[in-house]
Amino acid sequence: MHFFEFTEEQKMLRKAIREFAEAEIAPKAAEWDEQDVCPAELFKKMGEIGINGIFTPEQYGGAGIGFVGRTICLEEISRYSAGLGIAVMTHHLGIYPILQFGTEEQKKKYIPDLCSGAKIGGLGVTEPGGGSDFIGQKTAAEKKDDGWVLNGRKCFITNSHIADTTVLTAKTGQDEKGRTKLSAFIIEKGTKGFEAGRKEHKLGLRGSVTGDLVLTDVKISEDALLGKEGGGAKIGMEGIGEVGRAGMSAICVGILRGCVEEAVKFANERVVGGKAISKLQSIQFEVAKIRTAYEAARLLTYYAASLKDAGLPCANEVTTAKYYSTEAAVEASKRTMDLMGGYGIINEYPVGRFLRDALASIPSGGTSHIMQVIMAANTLSGFQA
Ligand SMILES: Cc1cc2nc3c(=O)[nH]c(=O)nc-3n(C[C@H](O)[C@H](O)[C@H](O)COP(=O)(O)OP(=O)(O)OC[C@H]3O[C@@H](n4cnc5c(N)ncnc54)[C@H](O)[C@@H]3O)c2cc1C
Repeated sequence: MHFFEFTEEQKMLRKAIREFAEAEIAPKAAEWDEQDVCPAELFKKMGEIGINGIFTPEQYGGAGIGFVGRTICLEEISRYSAGLGIAVMTHHLGIYPILQFGTEEQKKKYIPDLCSGAKIGGLGVTEPGGGSDFIGQKTAAEKKDDGWVLNGRKCFITNSHIADTTVLTAKTGQDEKGRTKLSAFIIEKGTKGFEAGRKEHKLGLRGSVTGDLVLTDVKISEDALLGKEGGGAKIGMEGIGEVGRAGMSAICVGILRGCVEEAVKFANERVVGGKAISKLQSIQFEVAKIRTAYEAARLLTYYAASLKDAGLPCANEVTTAKYYSTEAAVEASKRTMDLMGGYGIINEYPVGRFLRDALASIPSGGTSHIMQVIMAANTLSGFQA
């Protein structure tokens, strides 16, 4: 028995998404990066082939293929455009909390349109006071009459300017020990007082929109509350911890595969001193290191996704995968650039973009410091192999 092998269904999915990525993403990825635009129109096409609702049950318009299937989609997309990869991964992050914690009415109202691509989703938790301080959020929701009034600002939100449906968390009081109680809400584009604000010009992961969401006296009805009042911390952390970070890890597996493929192509084609540089041991060592990083990131990432599919705890494994894959993608893209000599820094090649995308993947979904804090706490509290 193999430790990890794709099922026939997953192999077919990979083939279909790879063909889609080669036809629809590869030719445009550099342009999206250069112009800093997100190809939002692709969501409808991605909906048709099941990417948007890949882990969503068929009864809500999804493909019902699960989280290993989702990892395949994100790896294949991000092989060519990690920017589009994070737009898709965040769209998934907009669906997951509704699927997991929503009422039947909320699921029927929002999820089918998010799966088809008629609508785009997002998740907003980060605030100017520091994304690492999840519980220190200041955006407040006050109960009024038969609904809620929200005020505050979210920042660094992927899909901020293109999302139709955003799940966001806000402070709704304190518990008996004085700790902040967060609740989650579903907010629709066009709701009075809910605006996309500043748009960031990023170093990497261009091809996705990242920006502020500003809430000024936003009135929403009682049925916009997602899950229980005071349940927002669990909703936000489960989404980010198991789906967001797993998605960032998958995106970096895509970048790592890009590094391997670009390194092999270049090393075989580039002739220096009368022979291909692939014959040089220095270059072979670089290729071996890049390949090892890809294989290790791939195993960690798909293993964590397979635990999620099996309904087993996976937050630890996702944290490890996210930490390793993002850091490995930075190192491997730098190694690939080194292997290419001067050509590595020429924008005609995608490797400079890989490095920028990998660097931008580190804070997305929680920094490497925070991943280490979580892993250290879990390990020091009782490590068992
Ligand atoms: C491209 C991109 C897309 C994003 N998309 C979204 C999104 O869709 N939705 C969303 O809600 N957020 C999103 N984020 C925000 C992301 O989650 C935050 O950037 C991240 O959590 C870090 O928060 P921060 O940037 O405020 O850094 P800070 O929290 O200010 O951290 C600053 C530094 O201090 C360190 N630090 C802080 N606290 C600790 C601690 N307790 N222990 C150790 N080190 C610590 C950090 O590691 C970092 O080095 C996105 C970010 C990026 C870059």
